[in-house]
Amino acid sequence: MLNNSFYEMLNSSNQAWTMYPGLSHGAYECLKEHGTDDQKKTYLPKLVSGEWTGTMCLTEPHCGTDLGLLRSKAIPNEDGSWTITGNKIFISAGEHDMAENILHLVLARVPDAPEGSKGISLFLVPKFLPNADGSVGERNPIFCGAIEEKMGIHGNSTCQMNLDGAKGWIIGQPNKGLNAMFVFMNAARLGVGMQSLGLTEVAYQNALVYAKDRLQMRSLSGVKAPDKPADPIIVHPDVRRMLLTAKAYAEGGRAFTSYVALQIDRELNHPDEEVRKEAADEVALLTPVVKAFITDNGWIATSEAMQVFGGHGYISEWGMEQYVRDARINMIYEGTNTVQSLDLLGRKILMDNGAKLRKFGEKIRAYVEEHGTDEAMSEFITPLGELGDKVGKLTMEIGMKAFQNPDEVGAAAVPYLRVVGHLVYSYFFAQMAKIALEKQDSDDTFYKAKLQTARFYFGRLYPETAMLIRQARSGAANLMALDADLF
Ligand SMILES: Cc1cc2nc3c(=O)[nH]c(=O)nc-3n(C[C@H](O)[C@H](O)[C@H](O)COP(=O)(O)OP(=O)(O)OC[C@H]3O[C@@H](n4cnc5c(N)ncnc54)[C@H](O)[C@@H]3O)c2cc1C
Repeated sequence: MLNNSFYEMLNSSNQAWTMYPGLSHGAYECLKEHGTDDQKKTYLPKLVSGEWTGTMCLTEPHCGTDLGLLRSKAIPNEDGSWTITGNKIFISAGEHDMAENILHLVLARVPDAPEGSKGISLFLVPKFLPNADGSVGERNPIFCGAIEEKMGIHGNSTCQMNLDGAKGWIIGQPNKGLNAMFVFMNAARLGVGMQSLGLTEVAYQNALVYAKDRLQMRSLSGVKAPDKPADPIIVHPDVRRMLLTAKAYAEGGRAFTSYVALQIDRELNHPDEEVRKEAADEVALLTPVVKAFITDNGWIATSEAMQVFGGHGYISEWGMEQYVRDARINMIYEGTNTVQSLDLLGRKILMDNGAKLRKFGEKIRAYVEEHGTDEAMSEFITPLGELGDKVGKLTMEIGMKAFQNPDEVGAAAVPYLRVVGHLVYSYFFAQMAKIALEKQDSDDTFYKAKLQTARFYFGRLYPETAMLIRQARSGAANLMALDADLF
């Protein structure tokens, strides 16, 4: 949980750079969970110290979302190592000379592997083969063929990587590579949510300073800065809407990710097995929401923050357009946000008959019951309770329709995830408002701001749930009826 907060700050400072330690962290988690003792002894200390960095090499030119199509090959050697051949693209932090060695975690197929995702294995392929004493030795033939030119995150080297008979060692069991890689991917999905949270916060901070400083026009309700030739733009209602959108998405996202990080700590460390299991279920349910909802909101928030600067936001000098460009990739990599939505609705909810969602819903219901009679809280509790009921009904409805036509899941998934995201944010904003109400008379202006941000959230952001629910309910026909040839 503590590390998560630190990562928000790192990402506010520089998302592209933070990907280097972020990927090393993911590689560490994966090796710690699935590596042999020897692998752990050789690689983990170097990853922790930052002397070596990590990558994840999944994507190939013809396969991104559908990893079952991947073609890279691994042939066993007599000494227990493997010889790996293949082409990977879009590999973040794939090549650089900031560290003395790079540890690539590579997905490939062993001979006679079953087709599709059941035939994928995971290999550890270092850039330099380590010597027995842990120092770096011979160069391994895994080379950067080209650096991808891209829209944002220019500080990160996104590489095409060619494996020309590179030496590697298997991690875990043959054909179980995706299982092992999921440890990395789940860590990375939370990490991507944190990237957008960091960008949301830093874009907001810049826009706030600018809005207090930039003088344009007078306030509609009378002059606010008579000593100046015009009022600062923060007096204008719509500038406030833009600022508060970014502020609310940052604060909602921070509450949400802190909670999920705490649940991960419980999942990994709690002495009671039952608590560990409950926490794990919640983390599984909420991970796609962290990834997709926060990154979609990060795109909205950085764009609004850029807009606060007017034309000065669009030119490079102020740095605001960089936040927008950087934020855009977060909706794409680590499984596109569409794929996250399908994971949430299909795998995490419908395939488990809604059990994990019901459990989380019970927490919300208990909170609504506990504070339902508190008049001061009704502006927060009423919409929270209503949305909880609506999500339950919507889930049932889509589930029933999916029996008739599986495309109904794909047609509803994206607006559905956003509705769940708002349910989660409503829950956290209600809790924050509760504390802020109790402390609103204190001298600490933090609580006054928190209360107003919660009011803004329920008044201005939450209402999109009505539209999203209508979209999700509108069914697959309006998407699927048009023959592909008629587009
Ligand atoms: C800057 C950058 C860094 C990256 N870093 C890494 C990295 O470090 N390691 C790595 O392995 N990869 C990395 N990637 C790859 C990234 O994870 C993929 O680009 C991403 O998973 C999507 O795959 P794709 O580009 O092949 O798109 P495709 O899979 O071809 O998808 C195209 C479109 O179709 C949609 N789509 C696909 N299947 C479905 C479906 N079943 N239902 C609905 N819609 C669907 C997608 O959502 C998308 O909109 C990176 C990419 C970029 C651009």
